[in-house]
Amino acid sequence: MQRRAALFLLACIPFFTACAIIPISHPSQASVSKLPSSPVTLKRAQFLMGTLVELTAVAPSDAIAQASLTAGFQEIRRLENMLSTWIETSELSRVNQAAGLEPVGVSAETFELLRRALEAAEYTEGGFNIAIGPAVQLWNIPEAPRIPSAMELEIAAQYVDYRRIHLDQTRRTVFLEKPGMRIDIGGIGKGFAAEKAAAVMREIGATGGLVAVAGDFRVFGRRADGTAWPIGIQHPRKPGKILAMLDAIDEAISTSGDYERYFMKDGVRYHHILDPETLQPARLCRSVTIIAPDATTADALATGVFVMGPVRGMALVERLGLGAVIVDAQGMVIVSARLRDRVKLAP
Ligand code: AMP
Ligand code: MG
Repeated sequence: MQRRAALFLLACIPFFTACAIIPISHPSQASVSKLPSSPVTLKRAQFLMGTLVELTAVAPSDAIAQASLTAGFQEIRRLENMLSTWIETSELSRVNQAAGLEPVGVSAETFELLRRALEAAEYTEGGFNIAIGPAVQLWNIPEAPRIPSAMELEIAAQYVDYRRIHLDQTRRTVFLEKPGMRIDIGGIGKGFAAEKAAAVMREIGATGGLVAVAGDFRVFGRRADGTAWPIGIQHPRKPGKILAMLDAIDEAISTSGDYERYFMKDGVRYHHILDPETLQPARLCRSVTIIAPDATTADALATGVFVMGPVRGMALVERLGLGAVIVDAQGMVIVSARLRDRVKLAP
């Protein structure tokens, strides 16, 4: 998983946080609200997967809400250990280390994630591409950002073909064909983790909840008062300001933006979502929000549609029957057909 800087902007902001990033003073700090005979709502935040993870649970009792939050965080931590390329012993690190050498056996979950990632690559005509790792390392945004030379990018281009990632379903192995290839799941891993955490919270007994892993959200059930979860989509050029809002029930919302991790040089914005064709930052959008039934799809498509741009990207969203709010390179806001009645644009 790509490590994020401690300072970041949430791409989507849950509305009940009064449209602002919540200051968290301690990871274990919890806020409790309970009316007589009404469900309990508990909320906690922790720094995981290199970003702030916020969980909200609605449950019949305080104990169930607490247990479901604890289990949700545990699940995300477990997945981080399995998938993070920042952890040398993770399954994905072992896959990367064995590039060009041999297939590596992985867990059913890692295999599922990679299968979904390659499926998304096909949908997005290569816009979403987890083989982008060598190029992401060259740009190194935001840790030590710099503009790579044309020569460096030309060399990296030889290692970013996702068709050279081989999944063997029977043996449950992954093989990167060429030495130097490197999988980067930064564009899908947080959504995958949000999906799994929501499932675990529900299993423990939460009737409703919200999992927010930076800009990747998964909501299930309803809030304690029976209403849907109001979600704010951040304005890509006005930090902390809301661009649009929508109410969500049992679905996922992911935003990819050029304002999340970037640096400016000579008036040009260089950000972290790369066009696999050029290995330069993708230039057709400022932000893309995808609404889908599950968070893995939403996360992968937000990144992939960002690369495809508003025309091809929106056509894909409509074809898949999903929802999208796209801010194009000129700042124009485009809302997909299914969302037109649901999304309220801020004045
Ligand atoms: P997201 O914030 O979900 O859009 O993910 C962005 C992250 O995904 C980047 O920081 C990279 O780690 C990785 N990434 C960059 N470009 C791509 C791409 N074209 N396809 C897939 N992942 C990418
Ligand atoms: Mg993504």
